[in-house]
Order: sequence, then structure tokens, then C-alpha cells
Amino acid sequence: MHTPELLAPAGNMEKLKIAVHYGADAVYLGGQAFGLRNMADNFSMDEMKSALDFCHVNDVKAYLTINSYPRNEALPELEKYLEQIAPLSFDAYIVADPGVIDAVRQITPDRELHLSTQANTINWRSARFWQQQGVSRINLAREMSLDNIRETVKAVPGMEFEAFVHGALCMSYSGRCLISSMLTGRDANQGECTHPCRWSYHLVEESRPGEYFPVMEDETGTFIFNSRDLCLLEHIPALVASGVHSLKIEGRMKGINYVASVLRVYRQALDEYLADPAGWRCRPEWLEELAKLSHRGYTTGFLFGQPRNVAQEYQSAYIRSHDFVGVIDDVKDDGTLLISVRNRIKVGDLIEFIGPGMRSDTVTLQHFSTLSERGAAIPADVANPNQRILLAVPFAVNAGDLLRREKRATS
Ligand code: SF4
Repeated sequence: MHTPELLAPAGNMEKLKIAVHYGADAVYLGGQAFGLRNMADNFSMDEMKSALDFCHVNDVKAYLTINSYPRNEALPELEKYLEQIAPLSFDAYIVADPGVIDAVRQITPDRELHLSTQANTINWRSARFWQQQGVSRINLAREMSLDNIRETVKAVPGMEFEAFVHGALCMSYSGRCLISSMLTGRDANQGECTHPCRWSYHLVEESRPGEYFPVMEDETGTFIFNSRDLCLLEHIPALVASGVHSLKIEGRMKGINYVASVLRVYRQALDEYLADPAGWRCRPEWLEELAKLSHRGYTTGFLFGQPRNVAQEYQSAYIRSHDFVGVIDDVKDDGTLLISVRNRIKVGDLIEFIGPGMRSDTVTLQHFSTLSERGAAIPADVANPNQRILLAVPFAVNAGDLLRREKRATS
């Protein structure tokens, strides 16, 4: 049995480090152009160099997204960008547009090319076509069934395939959506999607402009374009058996809490499966962990056919049981923790520390110190976002571990 890599999103340097800390085998990230997530922080040239050093020292691969569809007028800028990044040692570029592939081939002919899901590969003939163009890996369309994935992998030996296992779904055919362009002028295919499919909509009768009739699915309204999020945790065995080489997690725009929490679950689930395929069971605590994250209800998407046949119930709002409240920046020699606070915390809060390998310890917050700008420790009962605190806890933790608190706790 082959060992698929676990591929994680890295929207900025902090998320990249968290992804590595929580067990990613590879990360994908965008530069400041042509990367389809123009509203993520993305990486400058210097940051890309640091990111590559950090990844390669940790034996993690790094792929650069260049998967937008540039128009003629953007081609000179694209070529300049490709020249600038040519010396960087990315393990592959993720591309979608044949014109971009052509430009990459001209400027960096030896660079490995991974085909983005934006290219909508849904059959083995397409996969074979891309192989003939020199593409070494294809991120299969989310709209493929498991049977189709199996057939395609089998039909194109020598090609690597990636399958999404977790994250947001487009309600449209991935990447072929014009709602954002129409409503906001921001083009999803140029990396500027404003996610209007998640917005709330009303009904207007055409002769009564300005009269908005609410459409109610439940007490929160209706979100008629709002897809559930993909979660294929329970189907890791089938995906590994299908022969895909990479299991990909969506979410460069999501926060470090998402990256860490999803990775720690999929890392452990995949490792346990590879160690003992026959004895593998999807543990309830893994699903509970994923349910703690902000999400819109989970679905298996198209894996077993059309989603309408998967008893899909659309949720009208995000679901989340926990708040992310901080990250450990450093563990000092005496064991004191230096923590960056991301959400208000106070003495008496029940705080859970989570680390890789599903490590988890809980403590009721006692008095701590906040750090002044000059580094002076000031005893405190409350800390607000962007403050740093010093804290001692009676268990072992590491830099990069995250802190969270159940939502029902007062803040
Ligand atoms: S608006 Fe929604 S469906 Fe359309 S591209 Fe953006 S996320 Fe996808």
C-alpha cells in the first residue's frame, strides 16, 4: 500500500508553521499574484524564501499556486513574476490555465507542474491529455465520484492524483462561478471571490422594487446557495485504496485554529490507517473534534454520487462549539509559556490546550501576567486580543500548540 501525503493550506507564514507543527507532509501557498486567493495574506518574495527554508528543513514539500486565469493584458506581469520566482526551490507549481503552463515551460522548464482543481479534471482522458502536456499531478475535480477517481487513477499510470478530503465546497462547479463577479465585480477566477453564495437572500417581485420578502428555512433565514462543507474523514480507507497520492485540505483563507484542528485529526486518522488497515475505525473523537470548528454542516459531496442522493440537509448558519483564544509562541526554560492572545480570556475560564497527535489538556485559568510593550510582566485577570501573556500550566506543551475555550463559557 502506498502512503499518500497530507497536503495542507498555508495562507501566510503563521499558518504554514502551524501546518508543519500539526503534521502536514506538504503545504500549498500563494505569492502576491496569480494565486486565486488574493484576499488571503499570501507571501512576499522574502516570505516565500523563508517558507521554503522552513519547509525543507522540516522535510515538508511546498507548492506554489499560480492557478488564476490571466487575460492577455496580464501576461507580461505573469512572465515577470515567473522570472522573479524562478530561483525559488518550490517542489511544484499548481497551475490551471494552459497559457500559464506554456509560460512556465518557457521560463522554468524543469519545474514540476500540478494541475489545479480549477482545471476541472473529471475523466481519465483529460488526465491522460494533461500527462502528455508534462503535468505530473492532477488535483481531481471535487465533482468526481469514488468510482470515477478509482478508474481515472488506474487508467493513467505514472500520473499522481490529489483528492480534496476536507473544506469548503462551491455550490457551483468549482471555479466556474460568476456570482461574485456579478454582485461585486470581484472575479472568483482571478482569485477575488467574495463568497456571496454564503450570503442571505430575499425574494423580490419585479413590480414591487424595494419590497424584500424574507425566505425562511429556519429561524436564521435562508442561505439558498450555501453548500455544506466537505468531510471525507470516514472514507480515508477508500481514498487510500483508490490510489490517490495526496489528500488535500482546503482553506488558505481559514485561520490557524482550522488548520491545526483539521490536520491533527486527519494526521492521526491517516497514520492509524496506514499502521493497521484492517483494524482501522473512524474514532468518534475525531468527528467531535471536526464538529468543534466553525463549519456549515458536513457532507461527503460527490464521492458517492450526486449530493442530493446523500441526504444533504443545508444548514443556514455556521456551526461552532469552541472559540480559539490563543497560541503558544514560546516555552521558556523554566516552563513558563509565552502566549499570544487571540480572543479575550479571563481568570476562571476553562482553557483547553491542543497539540499534534490529538494531545489535549485542560486547565482553569489562574492568575497570569500580561506583557507590556517593553516586556514588563504585569499581573492581570483579563487579557484581550493581541496581548501577550505569561502563564504556567501543570502539563507539558510545545510552542505552536493552540488554546481554545468552549463557547458556552463566559468571556
Ligand atoms: S461565490 Fe461561492 S460558489 Fe461561487 S466561486 Fe465563490 S465560493 Fe464558489
